[in-house]
Amino acid sequence: MTEFDLIKKYFTDRQPPQSDISLGIGDDCALMSPRAGMQLAISTDMLIEGRHFFQGADARMLGHKSLAVNLSDLAAMGATPRAFTLALALPDIQPDWLRDFSQGMFDLADQHQCQLIGGDTTKGPLTISITVFGEIPIGQALRRGAAKEGDDIWASGTLGDARLALAGYLKQQHLSEEHQQQAAVRMHMPTPRIALGLALRGIAHAAIDVSDGLIGDLNHILESSDSGATLWCEALPVGPVLAQHNINLQREFALAGGDDYELCFTASSDQRPAVLAAAKQAGTEVTRIGFIEKKKGLPRLHLLDANNQPINLSLHSFDHFYEPGN
Ligand code: ADP
Ligand code: MG
Repeated sequence: MTEFDLIKKYFTDRQPPQSDISLGIGDDCALMSPRAGMQLAISTDMLIEGRHFFQGADARMLGHKSLAVNLSDLAAMGATPRAFTLALALPDIQPDWLRDFSQGMFDLADQHQCQLIGGDTTKGPLTISITVFGEIPIGQALRRGAAKEGDDIWASGTLGDARLALAGYLKQQHLSEEHQQQAAVRMHMPTPRIALGLALRGIAHAAIDVSDGLIGDLNHILESSDSGATLWCEALPVGPVLAQHNINLQREFALAGGDDYELCFTASSDQRPAVLAAAKQAGTEVTRIGFIEKKKGLPRLHLLDANNQPINLSLHSFDHFYEPGN
């Protein structure tokens, strides 16, 4: 099978064409234009075997996750997905793997009417790089720098189960087979919170998706907005599997575990009913976990326990270049 046969068989004509994309796969470039009054939101995420997923990972779930982590960035901006490109490096051509990978990817793409419009295919260590294109009414993006003093901080869904699954695989924690399986779904099949991101347009101020861990990702909002924040650890929406483990592990994984792909966002406190209505409309739970305040030096983020006493945790969110001890 040649590179061109592969593209044709697994990636071309798999979806009904969208009328507003004027040219998809097959030419030197794809062509699309944003609708009137809209701007494009564009994001790229790369997944490398051995770094972002284990060797031999299930191909269908990998197809899902590769697109899901990209759609999650659109969700965090309040963007509607429109199209994506796929750059794929493969060590060799394995038809079963390609069939399953593309199926997992297109199943999710079709849920969001997001069309594959191009890409690149090459031989090399297994690497998947997707670029997504979304659309937002001009000026309505939920930007990291938009948090305001006094804003509530909210988190969607639950946190920490993806990190728990990783701990199980790495034998850092002993998990029953049942717990491992339940938590693994969160790690391998994240749900991008697209509907919530859209419903929060005009309501939320700042938003980010939790990919590297809540404290690290929230810190990006705090830095961009030049503010501080307090979180109530008791309020954290801990994943259902993690909730059955001890409180210290719950805190650590809910605060610093990655791969949850929930949204963390801020909104003015007088928007509480609107936030709850948006969450209901999107079918996603949201929990109020703290508030934005004036920056009082570093660290920007303060953690309180159930008795409103400060907690000192030296937690690091996931960073590819972070070495413990440095
Ligand atoms: P070029 O040499 O002009 O870069 P390619 O031979 O790489 O073109 O690709 C041919 C067509 O197939 C282009 O439209 C490209 O966008 C598309 N394509 C290549 N690889 C993929 C892929 N993995 N998924 C989707 N489309 C792809
Ligand atoms: Mg090319």
